[in-house]
Amino acid sequence: MSVTQPWLPYRQMQTAPIPMMAVRTEGVRIYLRDGRTLIDGIGSWWSACHGYNHPHIRQAVQEQLEFMPHIMLGGLVHEPVVRLTDRLARLLPGELNHVFYSESGSVAIEIAMKMAVQYWKNKGISGRTRFMSFRDGYHGDTFAAMSVCDPVDGMHRLFKDVLADQIIVDLPRDEKSLSALENIISTHASELAGVIVEPLVQAAAGMKFHEPEVLAAISDITRRHDLLLILDEIATGFGRTGKLFACEHAAVEPDIITLSKALTGGTMPLAATVATGHVYEAFLSDEYEKALMHGPTFCGNPLACAAANASLDLFETEPRLMQATMIESQLEEGLAVCRGYPGVTDVRVKGAIGVVQFLHRPDINYLREQFISQGVWIRPFGDVVYLTPALNIDSDDLQQLINAVNHVVKGAAS
Ligand SMILES: *Cc1c(COP(=O)(O)O)cnc(C)c1O
Repeated sequence: MSVTQPWLPYRQMQTAPIPMMAVRTEGVRIYLRDGRTLIDGIGSWWSACHGYNHPHIRQAVQEQLEFMPHIMLGGLVHEPVVRLTDRLARLLPGELNHVFYSESGSVAIEIAMKMAVQYWKNKGISGRTRFMSFRDGYHGDTFAAMSVCDPVDGMHRLFKDVLADQIIVDLPRDEKSLSALENIISTHASELAGVIVEPLVQAAAGMKFHEPEVLAAISDITRRHDLLLILDEIATGFGRTGKLFACEHAAVEPDIITLSKALTGGTMPLAATVATGHVYEAFLSDEYEKALMHGPTFCGNPLACAAANASLDLFETEPRLMQATMIESQLEEGLAVCRGYPGVTDVRVKGAIGVVQFLHRPDINYLREQFISQGVWIRPFGDVVYLTPALNIDSDDLQQLINAVNHVVKGAAS
């Protein structure tokens, strides 16, 4: 009997093998139907920050399920969403107090961009509809999000002819590129709604890092030219870089921040676009049309908010940020050996992110198979192998992941 398979993301369904079936997850382990167990090195796209099936989150969702799995946020609120909003506002830096919910990171980006464009319209300033973003950035797969992604990244090149034309530049790395950036911004300031960047870690388009000073410099320029600064913390938010939010490393306070992935500890789809009072006030008016014109059906879903509240509890009761720093040391030490392998151009670590970069694109499918045969779930992409494990992974499991990377990278390089 043939069973119809789901159409999988980023997968050539004709040639790719039928995917393995996962039947259970626990902590950092994925249990497969065929009896094998894999240690997860990537935490389901760096979302599962407490590991899988954490009893505290599971219980919170079960309790919420008993009395109200969902209610529309059109005209109603509920306790989990009010509580979550208050907590996020307290945790986020500065004046980021106004939280708009959606169900995925890409949609949170769409909302951030829409918010920025409508902000200027509401203030009676026309023509500010474009965005500046950075090469090697990734902000999601929907059309507005794609338009601010890296322009040559294979995933989005295909749609170039239908994407909005944004201004995409290199991240400034020195004084010279900084003044070049300043020039571009001066030229385009009157048509720009905002600047969007992933702070410190450009994740899904290559796991590239930059220093807090770079982020601070970008923030500085946007301030001087009166542009909105949008920080995409969908990958970095909730401890991944060793602080709760990556912008804290640079003491930068954006006008809008986007969150998702680890917001619910990677358990439920939920995203947030959070604005400062300054942005929010531009939407307050006696004219209805100045309201933020967006409203996802599952906006602020109570189950997802319950999961997010429980995830935040764990950041209070368990030492996640310290664990991220411990992971950082172990990755630094453990992956260093890869630097000596031929074909490896870079080994870099920031917080609980470890990256080995190849000179040439390796045979990804071969590497992925090698990792499975080593008993680990690690999914290299492009020219990088990376680890973004649960923040509470123990050092033995982390060492097994590191050993597998070292072994497979060594084999691939020779
Ligand atoms: C994953 C990711 C997104 C997109 O989120 P989805 O939930 O996959 O739509 C956007 N920005 C960053 C930085 C991400 O890591």
